[in-house]
Amino acid sequence: KLSERLIAVAEFLPKRAKFADIGSDHAYLPCFVCLHDEQALAIAGEVNRGPFESAQKNVSKQGLEERIVVRLGNGLEVINEDDHIEQIVIAGMGGGLITNILDKGVEKLSTVNRLILQPNVDARQIRVWLNEHQFDLTAERILEENGHIYEILVADRNGVHPYKSEMIEKQLLLGPYLMEEKSSIFLKKWREEASKLKLVIEQMKQAAQPDEQKIKKFTQELSWIEEELN
Ligand code: SAM
Repeated sequence: KLSERLIAVAEFLPKRAKFADIGSDHAYLPCFVCLHDEQALAIAGEVNRGPFESAQKNVSKQGLEERIVVRLGNGLEVINEDDHIEQIVIAGMGGGLITNILDKGVEKLSTVNRLILQPNVDARQIRVWLNEHQFDLTAERILEENGHIYEILVADRNGVHPYKSEMIEKQLLLGPYLMEEKSSIFLKKWREEASKLKLVIEQMKQAAQPDEQKIKKFTQELSWIEEELN
């Protein structure tokens, strides 16, 4: 059975999706999507041979070789222009690695109109990247599974939405839609982050040579978080 996290990711793909799943591991996501939608097509990209082989095995076990191509390669390298890929999924990695993959392959994004990104940490970095590129954040989701809290960020090329103009610092950190929705999981996440941050700030203040810049930055972040928790 597919994880709730990946089911939530799949829900942001349109019918008849033509997508690439980068860092697909076992190709569970493309198999799930193609089993539920006869017209969906996918590329499963993997940089490591082990996961690449297990992706191939899964795809053939499900009889989906006609509709899912498994390719070995780094990031967006596995996408060719004539694949006409319309959506890209990158899930289960840090925000830094995800933006790194997007940066290295920006020229592969010309046919792409939706990005579905699921960072395990550092969602902020992805929002910053979106601010600087031709994709607008159009939806966000937060969920908890097996004791972990995950965020899913959806961005559309020239999407129409209230945050078309640049997100401000507080929104970059917390997520504009998640802030508005203020779900119990969102509150749980930021309550935990606030107590961690408090501890870090205390420790930094006690350093022999406190980094005032950094203390100021973290204190600002903490006050944004606390505004949301109150
Ligand atoms: N996307 C799946 C998920 O969300 O469950 C798998 C996540 S798994 C933690 C990360 C996968 O990304 C690993 O299989 C790893 O080999 C792959 N990966 C890491 N860096 C990559 C890159 N630059 N290009 C392609 N795959 C990469």
